Amino acid sequence: MREITLTKKIENTAFKMNADFIGIADAACFESSEYTGNKPQDVMASVRSVIILGVSVPRGAFETLPEGRAEYTNTLMAATATLRIVAFQIAKLIEKEGYRATIVPTEGSEFGYWYANRETLKANMSIKYAAYHAGLGNFGMNHLLITKDYGPRVRMTAILTNAPLEKGEKDTLLPFINEKCSKCSKCIEICPAGAISRDGKIDRQKCAQYMFNVLGGLRCGLCVKVCPQ
Ligand code: SF4
Ligand code: SF4
Repeated sequence: MREITLTKKIENTAFKMNADFIGIADAACFESSEYTGNKPQDVMASVRSVIILGVSVPRGAFETLPEGRAEYTNTLMAATATLRIVAFQIAKLIEKEGYRATIVPTEGSEFGYWYANRETLKANMSIKYAAYHAGLGNFGMNHLLITKDYGPRVRMTAILTNAPLEKGEKDTLLPFINEKCSKCSKCIEICPAGAISRDGKIDRQKCAQYMFNVLGGLRCGLCVKVCPQ
């Protein structure tokens, strides 16, 4: 009988524990010159694979915005809590096989500000960039990952490991920016902080200040709500 691979064991565990999707990126994708953020190699020098785990967020949490902002925030937190439990089990599974694993910080906001560097508002690595290279989706004008099955209505976490896992195929990669964004600007128009620009840039400070100062720490979510994908 063929032995089940570690990659397959990881996938089986993820789906058994209610993850909605999983992808694996080669950590070397962060060495590309197109990537300008922080790199997982600075956290784990021996990293070979980045495992991305995701859950979809119930549509009701978006449809009730902005009145249901507290409920939206709590729903995101619940998604994050689910992902943490799945990721912890997978990290333990990887270590039982003799490798090392650590879980990338993730929490319930659109852009991960709570664990980010206070000045740049950038995290230790971009989970979305790894997810793109794992073939899970591409980027929207709202700077979120537009997944194939759930649009931007997802929460994700990642695991760094030195295990040599089977990666997503390079030739399945989508265009970097979602094609449908060229005919849509709903996220730009709805943003109450004016943080998203038509030239494709995002002002993270404006978005974070809106959520920290105006909403008192509750999450905004409007650029996700209006996205038709
Ligand atoms: S402030 Fe703008 S960019 Fe930030 S979550 Fe809200 S709509 Fe999105
Ligand atoms: S709202 Fe429109 S422009 Fe913004 S990410 Fe979604 S499809 Fe793209």
